[in-house]
Amino acid sequence: LVYSDSNPLKRILHADATLDSDGNPIRKKKVVVLGSGWSGYSFLSYLNNPNYDVQVVSPRNFFLFTPLLPSVTNGTVEARSIVEPIRGLMRKKGFEYKEAECVKIDASNKKIHCRSKEGSSLKGTTEFDMDYDILILAVGAKPNTFNTPGVEEHAYFLKEAEDALNIRHSVIDCFERASLPNLTEEERKKILHFVVVGGGPTGVEFSAELHDFLVQDVAKIYPKVQEFTKITLLEAGDHILNMFDKRITAFAEEKFQRDGIDLKTGSMVVGVTADEISTKERETGKIVSKPYGMVVWSTGIGSRPVIKDFMQQIGQGQRRVLATDEWLRVEGCDGVYALGDTATINQRRVMEDIAAIFNKADKGNTGTLNKKDFNSVVKDICQRYPQVELYLKKNKLKNIANLLKSANGEDTQVNIEKFKQALSEVDSQMKNLPATAQVASQQGKYLAKCFNKMEKCEKKPEGPLRFRGEGRHRFQPFRYRHFGSFAPLGGEQTAAELPGDWVSIGHSSQWLWYSVYASKLVSWRTRMLVISDWTRRFVFGRDTSS
Ligand code: FAD
Ligand code: MG
Ligand code: MG
Ligand code: MG
Ligand code: MG
Repeated sequence: LVYSDSNPLKRILHADATLDSDGNPIRKKKVVVLGSGWSGYSFLSYLNNPNYDVQVVSPRNFFLFTPLLPSVTNGTVEARSIVEPIRGLMRKKGFEYKEAECVKIDASNKKIHCRSKEGSSLKGTTEFDMDYDILILAVGAKPNTFNTPGVEEHAYFLKEAEDALNIRHSVIDCFERASLPNLTEEERKKILHFVVVGGGPTGVEFSAELHDFLVQDVAKIYPKVQEFTKITLLEAGDHILNMFDKRITAFAEEKFQRDGIDLKTGSMVVGVTADEISTKERETGKIVSKPYGMVVWSTGIGSRPVIKDFMQQIGQGQRRVLATDEWLRVEGCDGVYALGDTATINQRRVMEDIAAIFNKADKGNTGTLNKKDFNSVVKDICQRYPQVELYLKKNKLKNIANLLKSANGEDTQVNIEKFKQALSEVDSQMKNLPATAQVASQQGKYLAKCFNKMEKCEKKPEGPLRFRGEGRHRFQPFRYRHFGSFAPLGGEQTAAELPGDWVSIGHSSQWLWYSVYASKLVSWRTRMLVISDWTRRFVFGRDTSS
């Protein structure tokens, strides 16, 4: 090793730096990761490239296993069982972590402005700037209130670990308050009226968990007030769980009816005060106000303020959600990537690129494609445009050749017009990926793998299409693999929708759900804790202290 300075301390400082051809240490590229949730944690776990100096900024120093969060609200699972501290991973990987929130991104100077938690007594230590070469946005999203008045002030959200604990305390608090003497029946009914807003998976699961808790535990502990309890689930659309298979929706709606959960569809919340929740009923157009004891708000997600501001800076101010390309690079901003709930992928339309695709395939420039030309690009088209595969699947076509045949008869020669015609419908299958943990973690893993081979790939950046024989090191665009969805419905029953149109509802799915989540929990430590929580619940019932 040749160092211009023989100072031993300097040598130690430089010990892990790689050297350039002149023997000078190369400055590592600084990668700043914002967020330690599903996408950020997954990215960090799979990243193995010693050429990066990795810095993580997140206001919470743990990963949260969100699918089990509704189970924390009633004490089936303990909050600490579903969090995984990130310090261990940081140490193992040699990454640096700062517990703070990024409040401002300065895209043109490649800087971020951060603020640590309030309450620090030392002035000047709560805010700091960091610069970056590459920025990874994995900050997730925030609950969306659609600016409904009173929601921020009076409703509970279910997004973070502390939200679940707050809900748990509040539910038990309602029962204690309703059990006090000198209350009228009306007052007890009001206090024990639990309203859940939003019939998506989280709202439904929370209602189901709450119902189980009321029936299985509260009935024993607060028998005197049990008759006054009521759960109302409000949904603005026609059905709950509308992203699931119709059979699951129907089953869930019937089950809730049987359970006595008051399910109100076509009912849009227009305001919440300290005592009442008001809805506009679609059928009658009337505004109805009802007294409540507690409201849980779960109607979807929106962009965080720091991302909104960033979008303004980079010319995406008109969009609702930050857009990336299929390689997860933020559009209109160099060196910034976005994953998970923070962004959506702006997929390319086949029709926009149709001429380019045709020309690439038409090797001899004959103006027509024959079977051989065609076969050489089929795989790449399917890779690059996921909608093609979806379209083929939906129309039960084996491959694009069949699609061309159906448009073109038996003729195997296709000109550009015929080619266009055959593919004209495929873009209708384009769908945004759902905001789920499955998508976020797959994106984190995908991006880490790209970063692991970045040096090779940087020399040959990807083109609009990757054709066989060209640039072996090019990155493939991100592709999502769906492994199925679960909707726990309470009473030890879970609906599962698995790939291949496979729907299963009932107790067996409940066990499938338990085992899938037990196997997905990130570490053996959390796995042990959750399984022992479940066992404890089966044996002793839930904990009702608050
Ligand atoms: P998150 O996991 O939310 O992570 C965001 C991270 O960024 C957090 O660490 C946060 O602290 C940090 N952060 C926030 N702001 C800043 C900032 N300004 N600067 C720096 N860091 C910041 N999905 C499923 O697939 N299956 C399920 O069963 C399921 N159940 C769910 C149940 C509930 C109750 C909830 C709320 C969600 C559920 N989801 C489920 C959805 C899933 O949790 C999200 O899609 C997923 O968390 C998205 O991952 P993410 O990395 O984008 O964001
Ligand atoms: Mg994250
Ligand atoms: Mg998370
Ligand atoms: Mg999120
Ligand atoms: Mg997304």
